[in-house]
Amino acid sequence: MKYFSTRNKKSGAVDFGTAALTGLAPDGGLYVPETFPQYPPEVRSSLGSMSFQDLAFETVKPFTAPEIPDATLGDLLHEAFTFEAPLISVGDRLVLELFQGPTAAFKDFGARFMARTFAYLRRGENKPLHILTATSGDTGGAVADGFYGVTGLNVTVLYPKGRVTPLQERQIAGLGGNISAVAVEGSFDDCQRLVKEAFKDGKLKKRKVLSSANSINICRLIPQAVYYAAAAGKAFAGKTDAPTAVSPWKSGAAGGVKPLGGKQPIVFCVPSGNFGNLTAGLYALEMGAPIRGFIAATNVNRSVPKYLETGYYEARFSEATISNAMDVGAPSNFERLITQWPNLNEFRRMVRGVWVTDDETREAIREVYRDTGYFLDPHTAVAWRGVNRLAKEGNLPMGPLAVLATAHPAKFAETVQPLTGPIPVPPVLGKVMERIPKSVSIPAELSAFLEVLA
Ligand SMILES: *Cc1c(COP(=O)(O)O)cnc(C)c1O
Repeated sequence: MKYFSTRNKKSGAVDFGTAALTGLAPDGGLYVPETFPQYPPEVRSSLGSMSFQDLAFETVKPFTAPEIPDATLGDLLHEAFTFEAPLISVGDRLVLELFQGPTAAFKDFGARFMARTFAYLRRGENKPLHILTATSGDTGGAVADGFYGVTGLNVTVLYPKGRVTPLQERQIAGLGGNISAVAVEGSFDDCQRLVKEAFKDGKLKKRKVLSSANSINICRLIPQAVYYAAAAGKAFAGKTDAPTAVSPWKSGAAGGVKPLGGKQPIVFCVPSGNFGNLTAGLYALEMGAPIRGFIAATNVNRSVPKYLETGYYEARFSEATISNAMDVGAPSNFERLITQWPNLNEFRRMVRGVWVTDDETREAIREVYRDTGYFLDPHTAVAWRGVNRLAKEGNLPMGPLAVLATAHPAKFAETVQPLTGPIPVPPVLGKVMERIPKSVSIPAELSAFLEVLA
């Protein structure tokens, strides 16, 4: 597969390795695949019965061939995806649980794949690769965890000081080793800007081999298409999964497996911030997975729902909310969306927008717990509530509907617990709280950041 910059679709195609390792194109654009590969018919018809690993292989392979040989890709996926994404039924809808990984958030899928891919692409090099990444909360933890201890890779994570939870801070800044943490006095947008500026700094580029690990990196997006295709395949085959031991139910409340009618394409409601997850879902749709469409749900940082509504895009300053991993005023993947789906009306047929306030988010957490015994994290609750809103307006697309659960509620116990009472904590998270976070604080200025990197 060849990749183009969003700012130059005519020339300058690069291979997968270059797109992955450089992150941003030289002209400042984001890499997008030249075409959307199609699932072969025999794969398409068995999406609902293949193993998660086999489906991951079929989904990722066309994007990474010929650089990553088949056997290597198989091994890599095996090491990266040590957990799956159950599609369970909760109340009147489905929930796609993406938090079964080591940091209990969906970003584990992308980060773990990326770390192992980078290590493969950099095999035999003697200069370490330095990853710069900005996080609004969950990316940093997933990247730190995914890259920790991988030889030949150093990571610096920037996060907005005081705007991540104590648990997230320990995930980002509690590992040490090849992972350094920088607390920026500012917003997530400031962190993202500092990373972008550092990439443009000539002197730094001469000294270090740099790469990024944000959702701007194509290498993070591609593996996320896998769980969409898997869930769509299951629903089309009329299947759902049983809850796992990590599924956040009040004790004794976990529902059983509810059979679906099948033969219907699914609708996903995606809680969105930087819109990497939604973009990956659109890739799965374009590849031929049985998906009717998407609902993009945001908190008050509503640039994209507004664009869908009015046709006019305005980047905003980010506002702090209780779904803080989605506090993004200027989503970086918007550039990918409008480059790959330039026709607004066609885009509107695939994606509906909705946005939700903090009060509504809290209400959704309370109601779903009261009615079903299931705990939603604040991000997932934004999506849940967004579905309610569209349903009330009579704007819900037909077919089975799955809300993407992007984080385990125990990660946001400060917000969720007062609304529900005690949340069962997955063992992986219990361990993290014992770490001592160590980070450097800086003002939101490039000079300060470069000093840290010196
Ligand atoms: C990052 C994140 C999101 C938003 O995902 P994007 O790909 O940036 O749209 C939603 N929920 C959680 C828990 C996250 O960590």
